[in-house]
Amino acid sequence: MNCVICGHESGYNRAVIDRFSGAKIGQLCMNCERDEFGKVFEYGSRGDDQCVLCRRDGHIALPRFVPTEERNGNTIVVRSTIDDGDAPQLCDEHFHAITEDEPPKRVVRR
Ligand SMILES: [Zn+2]
Ligand SMILES: [Zn+2]
Repeated sequence: MNCVICGHESGYNRAVIDRFSGAKIGQLCMNCERDEFGKVFEYGSRGDDQCVLCRRDGHIALPRFVPTEERNGNTIVVRSTIDDGDAPQLCDEHFHAITEDEPPKRVVRR
């Protein structure tokens, strides 16, 4: 899965999930999380259903991947499972704002 913002291989940082259909839309890499959100997600997850950037209903959930070790005989297999505890959420507007190619147009008034 690739990052929904930069399109590169995202590693295991966060999953991007449509809360209504449950569909996994993609992933979010660590660089984009930092660039777009800074530390918002670290402090922004309030355990409620609102967008971390505004007060609208969350539409997209961004749960973190948590590596878990499983012992399989003598080998240890590391899997990444999604921690869907208090995942930060984004409303559809903010989600589109960060994933759209073009930056939002600025209206300049003179
Ligand atoms: Zn990215
Ligand atoms: Zn929002």
